[in-house]
Amino acid sequence: MSLIVHKYGGTSMGSTDRIAQVAKRVAKWFRAGHQMVVVPSAMSGETNRLLALAKELAPATVSEAYHRELDMLAATGEQASSALLAIALQAEGLESVSYAGWQLPIRTNNAYTKARIESIDDARIRADLDAGRVVIVTGFQGQDEQGNITTLGRGGSDTSAVAVAAAMKADECLIYTDVDGVYTTDPRVVSEARRLHTVSFEEMLEMASLGSKVLQIRSVEFAGKYKVKLRVLSSFTPWDLDIDEEARSGTLITYEEDENMEHAIVSGIAFTRDETKISVLGVPDKPGTAYQILGAVADANIEIDMIIQNISKDGLADFSFTVGRGDYARTLDLLQHQVLPKLGAQEVVGDTHICKVSIVGIGMRSHVGVASTMFRTLGAEGINIQMISTSEIKTSVVIDEKYMELAVRTLHKAFGLDQVGTGA
Ligand code: ASP
Ligand code: MG
Repeated sequence: MSLIVHKYGGTSMGSTDRIAQVAKRVAKWFRAGHQMVVVPSAMSGETNRLLALAKELAPATVSEAYHRELDMLAATGEQASSALLAIALQAEGLESVSYAGWQLPIRTNNAYTKARIESIDDARIRADLDAGRVVIVTGFQGQDEQGNITTLGRGGSDTSAVAVAAAMKADECLIYTDVDGVYTTDPRVVSEARRLHTVSFEEMLEMASLGSKVLQIRSVEFAGKYKVKLRVLSSFTPWDLDIDEEARSGTLITYEEDENMEHAIVSGIAFTRDETKISVLGVPDKPGTAYQILGAVADANIEIDMIIQNISKDGLADFSFTVGRGDYARTLDLLQHQVLPKLGAQEVVGDTHICKVSIVGIGMRSHVGVASTMFRTLGAEGINIQMISTSEIKTSVVIDEKYMELAVRTLHKAFGLDQVGTGA
């Protein structure tokens, strides 16, 4: 008997019909002799619907009081879907009980709308499992020390599921979603994209941070820290699919490099439109200016991604960096009104028409010339590179957003990702 955690995403829980299918699938696993904990997302569209209601009443503010209520509100989505799933399982003839985050509790810090899980008390879950029940735990939510309801950031029920699996030392955590695994790139952009049978934890971490939406990044961090056996698979296969076949489907996240395994140099291409570029022009080139600019941005709790500073001319340098789209206006304002006057820089300009395209692969560690293949490929298509950043296993470029799909398609081809037998 194994302890298995299933997580079902919003589309998998999207209607009562879908929920009934989920219940049948969970019941199949339970009847095969496993202890089952299930973590559902809200029904698809529900979190957006709830947050839009709040916006109708008042424009978003940065106040803590407002964010507290957003969490109070958004958490109801998962409470509803969890109760519905327990009811569906009862209709299947199983004993089932659902718990909200605060009922266990799942303890988080108090960073409303992006809280981090600190601990999970699994006593009630264990008691129910031992009594032969299927336990449903709400995704996405927890409770801070003062008893306030918190949520874990969009896509956060992945993290709930992995954290529950880690806390309970589950044998495996299966993330059921509307795609059948992790792909070399988004199949909606490149039809030749292929599913990876395995992907290393480090690659998955990069892909999640670079814009692949399959798993919330914190869930991957959690999985890596506690070595949770994690698999991404589809909930749209027939629920009565042979259980062994199902258990081998999708994409498995791996932790050790199998030395005998031939790795593709590049495993995937990630891309995102979520970033914007800000340039501070004519900055006096002297010690301390980088801190004056970036320190002010960081102090405002704005996350910076890529940074470049060019060679100075006449003692003046240009400084560019990227921030998330949601922070764009605030960052520009901060620089124009607070930093620029003190700094004596000439101008601040912003560009929202950019995207970031990245190649990811652990094979890049042991192969030279991978980045230059990327630059050559983009150059041959006439795509201008505005910024570059690299790490051991990835290279990212910022380019004009109008070339995003072209760049992803040509890179996918250039690295042979459309060929069967690579990367998997
Ligand atoms: N319902 C939340 C969201 O839409 C959490 C999740 O689905 O993972 O972001
Ligand atoms: Mg998700």
